[in-house]
Amino acid sequence: MHNRALVLQTLYSAGTLSRADIARRTGLTRVTISDLVAELMLEGLVIETGQREDVRPGKPATLLEIDSTAFQIIGIDLSDYSTFRGAVLDLDGQIVERAEIPLDGATAETAFDKVVALCAILTGRATAPLLGIGIGSPGIVDPDGVVVTAPNLGWTDLPLQLSLSSRFGVAVSVSNDANAALLAEFSFGETDNDMMLVKVGHGVGSSLLLGGAPLVGSMNAAGEIGHVNAGLGDGLVCVCGKTGCLETWVAGPRLTARLAEAHDGIAAPDSPRSREILHEAGRRLGLVLAPIVAALNLSEVVLSGPEDLLGGVFIDAATDTVRARTMAAYTGDMSIRMTTLGQDIVIRGCAVMILSRELGFS
Ligand SMILES: [Zn+2]
Repeated sequence: MHNRALVLQTLYSAGTLSRADIARRTGLTRVTISDLVAELMLEGLVIETGQREDVRPGKPATLLEIDSTAFQIIGIDLSDYSTFRGAVLDLDGQIVERAEIPLDGATAETAFDKVVALCAILTGRATAPLLGIGIGSPGIVDPDGVVVTAPNLGWTDLPLQLSLSSRFGVAVSVSNDANAALLAEFSFGETDNDMMLVKVGHGVGSSLLLGGAPLVGSMNAAGEIGHVNAGLGDGLVCVCGKTGCLETWVAGPRLTARLAEAHDGIAAPDSPRSREILHEAGRRLGLVLAPIVAALNLSEVVLSGPEDLLGGVFIDAATDTVRARTMAAYTGDMSIRMTTLGQDIVIRGCAVMILSRELGFS
């Protein structure tokens, strides 16, 4: 890791340290640390916060901190089917301001215009220089931030990253929404180095962290489990043309529609029929997850999505199904749980993307 990034990373995770502490922790010399700290203070990224109260004789050490208000980051979540959401965040990943724009069924150029409009609102609300704009998009996104395909938004080969960075004159980073969520879970949640994050929204996607590194895949599409058949060819016809895809069982709109249909449009989340529907959906997710959990020896699967639908019977059925279909000795301790980051998971993951790209945090 670059020395500068190493110093920033060390301060970021520790909170407050003296120059000598940083030298000890990084293994760099005192002189190097002094020079780097001077440079970072000049940029406003690092500030002196006072002196350590020391009982030892000699000059008390001056303490340093990252100034989390020196810069701001914009995070934007395009994964919801009805609303584009965004926020201005500080360097600690805390949300300072929010904004959203209803999608109103927009696709293609019109949907892109709404992303631009949301960026404009948020850049207008930032109260510190911007470190960058991070965006979590549905679909497949290549390493250059080109949305290769996002069928729900009608985007094909859209150079989102380039268009926005030239328009707003700041660094822009675009990633798949589930990958952004994974970064948030890894940075702010309580998770291990091996994890799968399943995101249930308009569709169903997932992302994988293996040995602490996100998995990309040969076509940048690792984790795209939404169109894997979740049974034996039974089920409904999917948007992709096949029958019985995982999405037809589990995606938010499909699940909501099935629940409404069972009760003539009246919400009855705790009725026996609703529990049956949610149990069956959870079981279908478990069918798809079992071989993945076994092959990768995962200890944890984290779900992100509507907690009222996924939090109870659904998650229990998915867990039981994975356990029943795998070897207990390897997957007995495996757990499936809801994320603790709620609806802001993608937005906060976008901030992590920018922090790691611009400041070298990992
Ligand atoms: Zn499908």
